[in-house]
Amino acid sequence: MSPAARRLLLARRRCLSTGAASSASASSQLPRGKRWDAVVIGGGHNGLVAAAYLARAGRSVAVLERRGVLGGAAVSESDLVPGFRFSRCSYLLSLLRPAILRDLELERHGLKLLPRSPSSFTPCLDGRYLLLGPDAELNYSEISKFSKKDADAYPRYEEQLEKFCKLMDFVIDSAPPELRQDFHASMVDRMKDRVDKSAFWGNLLRHVMQQGQKNMVEFFDLLLSPA
Ligand SMILES: Cc1cc2nc3c(=O)[nH]c(=O)nc-3n(C[C@H](O)[C@H](O)[C@H](O)COP(=O)(O)OP(=O)(O)OC[C@H]3O[C@@H](n4cnc5c(N)ncnc54)[C@H](O)[C@@H]3O)c2cc1C
Repeated sequence: MSPAARRLLLARRRCLSTGAASSASASSQLPRGKRWDAVVIGGGHNGLVAAAYLARAGRSVAVLERRGVLGGAAVSESDLVPGFRFSRCSYLLSLLRPAILRDLELERHGLKLLPRSPSSFTPCLDGRYLLLGPDAELNYSEISKFSKKDADAYPRYEEQLEKFCKLMDFVIDSAPPELRQDFHASMVDRMKDRVDKSAFWGNLLRHVMQQGQKNMVEFFDLLLSPA
């Protein structure tokens, strides 16, 4: 276990009780007088990732989770249907960035990604169903059961989504430019700030240009229209 993960676990152990922990019982286990560099309220995946990065940066971190189990909406639990362990809510890792997987060495810590094939099953009340997955031929024959036109259009739709993802990937993976107005900042810091902002907006513009006008119009349609 890496020192950062150990530090995080230690902080976690101090802050969490097992079973149904309430905030009050968890806080009663905190060492008295201990000062933390950072306190993260909520051990969902965003809180855990933030805490892990802080711990990696050498900060002492406390994660306070009111439930007896970490993970928030992305947790897998077995008490819902006895004998089965599954994700209660969030089950797709679509937004878990590859950089986080690498930085936090999640695979070494036991993360195993299971490909979904088929990926979705949608039953209809009349007995028909739609089964979709990574197999293009299966998708074609399945969608054709409902609409040949939609089946023909589906590969173009997926191709377009892939293009939009490239744009979104850049936005998601970049730190947003800060709205800083620090009049006391040094000349060097202000210059650095300008360079960072120029790099961000320049890169974003490059990605937008790569999409082309037609795709950008359709991208905003997708964002702003009802699904
Ligand atoms: C039904 C459903 C399906 C979803 N499917 C997907 C999916 O497939 N893929 C995907 O990427 N996203 C999905 N999402 C969205 C995803 O679950 C959330 O974006 C994600 O869980 C947010 O993580 P989080 O850490 O910010 O918050 P949460 O996961 O909500 O975690 C918050 C944590 O904070 C704790 N907490 C709250 N208040 C306090 C307090 N006062 N003191 C102590 N602890 C506190 C909670 O107990 C919880 O553990 C889905 C969401 C839902 C509801």
